Amino acid sequence: MPAPMTPRPFRVVRRRRDTHDTVTLELEPASGQPLAAKPGQFTMLYAFGIGEVPISVSRTDGPLLVHTVRAVGAVTESICASQPGAVLGVRGPFGNAWPVVEAEGRDVVIVAGGIGLAPLRPALLHVLQSRGDYEAAVLLYGSRTPRDLLYRTELERLATQADIDVRVTVDAADDDWRGNVGVVPKLIGDALFEPANAIAMVCGPEIMMRYTAEALLARGVGADRIFASMERNMTCGLGYCGHCQLGPTLICRDGPVYRWDELEPLIAVREL
Ligand SMILES: Cc1cc2nc3c(=O)[nH]c(=O)nc-3n(C[C@H](O)[C@H](O)[C@H](O)COP(=O)(O)OP(=O)(O)OC[C@H]3O[C@@H](n4cnc5c(N)ncnc54)[C@H](O)[C@@H]3O)c2cc1C
Repeated sequence: MPAPMTPRPFRVVRRRRDTHDTVTLELEPASGQPLAAKPGQFTMLYAFGIGEVPISVSRTDGPLLVHTVRAVGAVTESICASQPGAVLGVRGPFGNAWPVVEAEGRDVVIVAGGIGLAPLRPALLHVLQSRGDYEAAVLLYGSRTPRDLLYRTELERLATQADIDVRVTVDAADDDWRGNVGVVPKLIGDALFEPANAIAMVCGPEIMMRYTAEALLARGVGADRIFASMERNMTCGLGYCGHCQLGPTLICRDGPVYRWDELEPLIAVREL
């Protein structure tokens, strides 16, 4: 095993442009030894000579490492520009997982905002692949505009399936959009699930997660059955550097997935 701060080389084998600023990369390990991640975990992805950033694994059910990355700054721009054949460094996987096992026998409500669908995708795929282990399945997804929607083909296919309630919304429509307009928490009221039996998994901007949790609580989902993934910045991924401290916890070590009754008091405190 390499030292925990030493990145392993992974080669880009496929690159798909998802939106104007987001790509999905499929990577294979140069060593041939695959990286096994659980739904919700992330790696530290290194663009050599530029920098390293935490990125969630966006598919965990195959031999390749899959990441969906939005270009927002120097490192993510460089990662997104990587073409097949390029080599990136990978450390991890790190962090805990979505409660896909605890959710068995329950209704599963997945609520995503923007790039937040990427960390939730492995949980969604797990539920779909083990559909008999769960009761109702719900996917609520919102993005700023239609051109920001991730995995559109997958979403369109899912929307035709009878065994999942899929609802998509955008903050601002364009001329071609015929779907919902408004923020994603507004979809919770009508979604097809039984609050007393549901587990919710939420990922998106913090403000979206807060309003989503409020809407779920208002429908009767207990705070101990709402889980949210925190995507604040971090450096080492190993609990050494302290950059991702959240109250008495470290997001890289104790998260990124938190139960809402534990998370809510921590994010209520303003960052210094
Ligand atoms: C556990 C975890 C999982 C993540 N998973 C993904 C993922 O699957 N796909 C993906 O595209 N991104 C993901 N991110 C966010 C990603 O790590 C940041 O976008 C990245 O670090 C930005 O680095 P940069 O050098 O490109 O941009 P920077 O120059 O560092 O930042 C550019 C802009 O983005 C803001 N920013 C930076 N990091 C974050 C962040 N974590 N949250 C919100 N705003 C930020 C900065 O304040 C700045 O305005 C994840 C973050 C964490 C902590």
